[in-house]
Order: sequence, then C-alpha cells, then structure tokens
Amino acid sequence: MADDRFDASLRDPRTMYPAPPFPRQPQDKPGFTEEMEPRPDHGEESYVGNGRLKGRKALITGGDSGIGRAVAIAYAREGAEVAINYLDAEEEDAASLARLIEDEGGTIHRLPGDLKDKAFCRALIEQAREAMGGLDILVANAGKQVRQPGIEEISDEQFDETVQTNIYALFWLTKAALKVMPAGSAIITVTSNQGFSPAPYLLDYATTKFAIRGFTEALAQGAIEQGVRVNGIAPGPFWTPLQPSGGQTQDKVEEFGKGTPMGRPGQPAELAPAFVYLASPESSYVCGEIIGITGGKPIS
Ligand code: NAD
Ligand code: MG
Repeated sequence: MADDRFDASLRDPRTMYPAPPFPRQPQDKPGFTEEMEPRPDHGEESYVGNGRLKGRKALITGGDSGIGRAVAIAYAREGAEVAINYLDAEEEDAASLARLIEDEGGTIHRLPGDLKDKAFCRALIEQAREAMGGLDILVANAGKQVRQPGIEEISDEQFDETVQTNIYALFWLTKAALKVMPAGSAIITVTSNQGFSPAPYLLDYATTKFAIRGFTEALAQGAIEQGVRVNGIAPGPFWTPLQPSGGQTQDKVEEFGKGTPMGRPGQPAELAPAFVYLASPESSYVCGEIIGITGGKPIS
C-alpha cells in the first residue's frame, strides 16, 4: 500500500522552488534562518519518515540551520535520536529546531561549542554518546565559507579558521567517533562542487573541500575494517544562511543558483534524503562514495 502522506505528484523540478532573482540580504556570520528571504525549505511540511533510522543515534554538526537542519528533521522523522552541534551564537536556530522536533515526539540534544577547538571536538563526541547512550551516525556538516576577490584578500586568520573548521575538526571528530562507533555505523562528510571545480574567489574554502574528498575516500577504506561506512555529499548551490552571511557577495546572492541547468538553487529539503540513504542499511554496499547533488551541473 502506498503511503499517501508523501506527495508523489508529477512536478517540474525546475519550478518546484524559488528561482533568482533574490533580494539582497546581508547578514553577519554565522547567519540565521529567520533573516533569509525567501525562507529556506528544510522539509518541515514535506518530509515523511518511514522508520529507516529507527533506534539510531546521530550527531549532526552545523545541525541548527541549512543542510544540517534538514538532515536533523529527516533523521528524527525516520526514528533516530538526534544531537546537534552549532555555535553559541546560533542558539535561536537550535531552539526553534528543537521545538519542532520535540513537538513531533522526537528527541534532540543541543550540544553547542566551537569545533575549531580540539578539546571540544573530543568532548563533543563524548557528550553525544552520553546523551544518547551511544553513537552510530556522524554527519560532519559544519563548514566555514568566506568569499574574497583573491588570495591577496584572504587573511592568515581567515585561512586558519576555514582550515580548522572544515578539516581539522573533521579529523578530530572522526578519530574520536571511530573509537566508540559499532559496526553498522555511518559517517557522512560534506564536500562541495568547489571540491571538484575550484573558484578563485573561494580559494581557501575550495582547498578544504578538495581535502574532504581525499579524507573521505581514504578514511572509508580504513573504517570499513571495523564495519563503519564513510561517504560524502557534494552539494551544488543550496539556499542556506552560509551564503548571504559572507559566503557570497550580495550580487551573487541575487542570482544564486542561476548558473545551474535548473536555473535555481537547491533547498536543504532536497538534500536530506541522500543523507538518510547513506546512514541507513539501504546503502550497505555504498562506501567511500561522494554523491553530487547539483541541480544538473556536472561534477567531476
Ligand atoms: P549553514 O550556515 O546553515 O551551516 C553551516 C554551519 O556550520 C553553521 O550553522 C554552524 O553551526 C556551523 N559552524 C561553522 N563554524 C563552526 C565552528 N567553528 N564550530 C561549530 N560549528 C560551526 O550553511 P550550509 O550551507 O547548510 O552548510 C553546511 C555544509 O554544506 C558546509 O560544510 C558547507 O560548506 C556545505 N556546502 C554548502 C553549500 C551551499 O551552497 N549552501 C554548497 C556546498 C557545500
Ligand atoms: Mg547556522
């Protein structure tokens, strides 16, 4: 019997979601959901769970907003207990997500802290494990992106912070997580189309996204020796607070997603099912893979 809560009607993907032009909307980092116009879709009204992650225990970094928020909603509706990490400044987004998940009967733990801090990364894995009584999914999704005209404008501080957030934290978190993850667990990383086709104005960011690909493919071969699958997702342009808060210039925000064959950016809700797939036993033979979700723009 088909589940009629899921909207399976034929819809043209090009017109399912907003397309540019978008209003200019500068905001400070780390960026907030409420300030975005139009409001991103995290699957609040559309994601239908099916018990795919029943009983699982998932930690999602950057889980307050954007892609991580959509993953948290989907995982909770699939039956997982969820813990999210985010920066202290993002409590507002974390609190509104927690309200949504708890109102639906789900369980979410809020574990704020700065992933640039090695000791915190280790403590976070322990906090998540303690809060949930185990850990078998890690979504390493947090990321920093600051657009600059070129290398001249990238300060040493920006370079350090981008590498610490996107690469060092990934190393610290996965190393600690693998110590406690049982066979059957999944680690999911987030690279980017920038990890395949780097742009000069995202030099530091693109460098880290290339590194995440290498890390994912290498780690996958080692981690499977303990039965843990590691895979990555490479999103194209997605409508999240990362972009208007300095990830792009406001000129680029206005036309965000225009360069894809679909002519629009993706919404976080359009990514979440791939994260569900990679975490669930449905993808049991998928290991060391990077799945591109780009609105049709070739990724290679
Ligand atoms: P987002 O701003 O909603 O999420 C990024 C999150 O990273 C923030 O919510 C924040 O909690 C977290 N973060 C940043 N620095 C941190 C730190 N020092 N400590 C702890 N948390 C920190 O934006 P998003 O687009 O959903 O980003 C999620 C991931 O997707 C990132 O890795 C990003 O690089 C990647 N990505 C995004 C796009 C896009 O177009 N939006 C495209 C490709 C890849
Ligand atoms: Mg955020």
